[in-house]
Amino acid sequence: MFNTILIANRGEIAVRVVRTARRLGIRSIAVFSDADANAMHVRHADEAHLIGPAPARESYLRGDVILDVALRAGAQAIHPGYGFLSENADFAEACAAAGIAFIGPPAAAIRAMGSKAESKRLMVAARVPTVPGYHGDAQDDALLAAEAARIGFPVLIKASAGGGGKGMRPVLRAEDFLAELAGARREAQAAFGDQRMLLEKYLQRPRHVEVQVFGDKHGRITHLHTRDCSLQRRHQKVIEEAPAPDLSDALRARLHEAAENAARAVGYTNAGTVEFIVEGDDAFFLEMNTRLQVEHPVTEAITGLDLVEWQLRVAAGEALPAHWPPAPQGHAVEARLYAEDPAQDFRPSVGRLSLLRLPKALRVDAGVQAGDAVTSFYDPMVAKLIAHATDRAAALDALLQGLGHTVVEGVTTNAVLLRRLLRAPAMRAGVPDTGFIAREAETLLRAPDPAPDLVVAQVAASVARGAGDGAWQRADSWQLFGVRETALRIDADGLPCRVVLRGGQAQVDGGEWFALPAARIAPEEDGVWRVTHDGTPHRLALGDAYAPASAAATADRRLNAPIPGRVVAMQCAVGDAVTAGQVLVLLEAMKTEIRLTAPRDGKVAAVNCAPGDSVDEGAELVSLA
Ligand code: ADP
Repeated sequence: MFNTILIANRGEIAVRVVRTARRLGIRSIAVFSDADANAMHVRHADEAHLIGPAPARESYLRGDVILDVALRAGAQAIHPGYGFLSENADFAEACAAAGIAFIGPPAAAIRAMGSKAESKRLMVAARVPTVPGYHGDAQDDALLAAEAARIGFPVLIKASAGGGGKGMRPVLRAEDFLAELAGARREAQAAFGDQRMLLEKYLQRPRHVEVQVFGDKHGRITHLHTRDCSLQRRHQKVIEEAPAPDLSDALRARLHEAAENAARAVGYTNAGTVEFIVEGDDAFFLEMNTRLQVEHPVTEAITGLDLVEWQLRVAAGEALPAHWPPAPQGHAVEARLYAEDPAQDFRPSVGRLSLLRLPKALRVDAGVQAGDAVTSFYDPMVAKLIAHATDRAAALDALLQGLGHTVVEGVTTNAVLLRRLLRAPAMRAGVPDTGFIAREAETLLRAPDPAPDLVVAQVAASVARGAGDGAWQRADSWQLFGVRETALRIDADGLPCRVVLRGGQAQVDGGEWFALPAARIAPEEDGVWRVTHDGTPHRLALGDAYAPASAAATADRRLNAPIPGRVVAMQCAVGDAVTAGQVLVLLEAMKTEIRLTAPRDGKVAAVNCAPGDSVDEGAELVSLA
């Protein structure tokens, strides 16, 4: 076994690899960019080295610099995590050439599976079923449009080099094809520096089922059961579970076998995942990810294995245990907590985590803690929450409960979406298909409900009665009309509310009077009430600031960059009449194209940016008359 490894990654996965290394008595070396000087993975590792500026291209993607650090620091192996260099065959080769073990498959296997198009041709040859489509080299517009017509709409355009749902666009009608093709190419160019596309029949209601595989250097390849990752937003996984529920024994066996065949076809070793889409009793190969997946913890939960430990053992030459795969135990579900706003097209939310409280009763894999920043340089995932129980219903309940004990302040998160998903009847009844979130967007993605008047009034009453410690006695000074009437201002989720209390009654913002429940809610130490009502967490505090009305009115006229990014396209010009919600600017930030829409109806008065411009957070891009 190695005694020193370098982790060529950041965030939760780097922290997670350090944890296993430490348990095995292996020294871990972290690398970090300028933006991560004080990051959690740096604090956790035994040793850490600066490798460059914040942009990944200049740091976490600099294989040469990282290899140099590894050699100088005496590492015998490099764990690439996921993303960054994990599926870079050249890097794997460079490691081997430098005499350092790459903790992953051989470069040739990475290369064979690296292109979605090439891997599909390979799978056709290995008789693994694939979705009907076009996987050819020729890429001109006319040919691709003709192929799309041959496959029949709807078709899915996919970046051959793709990952994370980037450069992927479903096209429902022939007339939209060329515009979507251009968009997919732009996104693929930005994300992967590669514009090649493939086309596939777009299945209407598929599930995403994948198989964890493992291979050793002695020719043994085995599956480690299935995962279902059908709950996706913009083709990115949100909730994952293991084993995939509701598959017939025959289909499950076919999936295991197809996955092992796929791995065998490329001479695979170490951990990998073969992804399929499943519709009815049909399963089609999607791609193979030649690395550890984000969602590997659900497989660890049901197998009792530490997959990182086995990655290290296999890389060091150990054989896989003969009794693998171990029988699955119970059911596991993982939720990805992201700093993003589902109500704003999943726009990443950057900022400092002023408060971060994660559930104690669940496995939590996090790469940040309170005080850390979510920046626009890297993936905005805050943490993964993993629940494991005897059956699916119990695991879903445990995860829901864990989310109830999760508090994130300073950035917007998808926590409400996660809770809504875990409570959705369709989710309770079985796993919905991959289009579920998009289809149910209206209910799932709408902004969280504001704190109901009842909750606001209860908090006000707690203040007035001096609930909690003495600090809250000062509510008395708010008394307006003798002893019986008290008026307070409560900040509810950032919205100022005026509450009047009289006897056992309350009135919020001049509305109807209603009876106050007797129960008091005690504030937390910081004088904030965190109340979850009907699945939605609320933050309430004694407040006295009414935002001036004029600020809101002028803000409405401007379209500002929500995060730093690069303008990819302008979809409006001075003088255009636009309607609320119409896309005006395409901004690329955090490797994703973000659609910025008109805040209201109006005429474009000024356009302050052009394609190619880099813009700062808050920059005014367009203003309406
Ligand atoms: P990426 O590597 O970008 O994640 P994948 O090829 O793995 O892309 O596909 C991601 C997701 O997109 C799948 O899980 C599935 O939900 C959806 N998807 C992919 N191919 C198809 C298809 N042909 N029809 C319908 N949905 C698809």
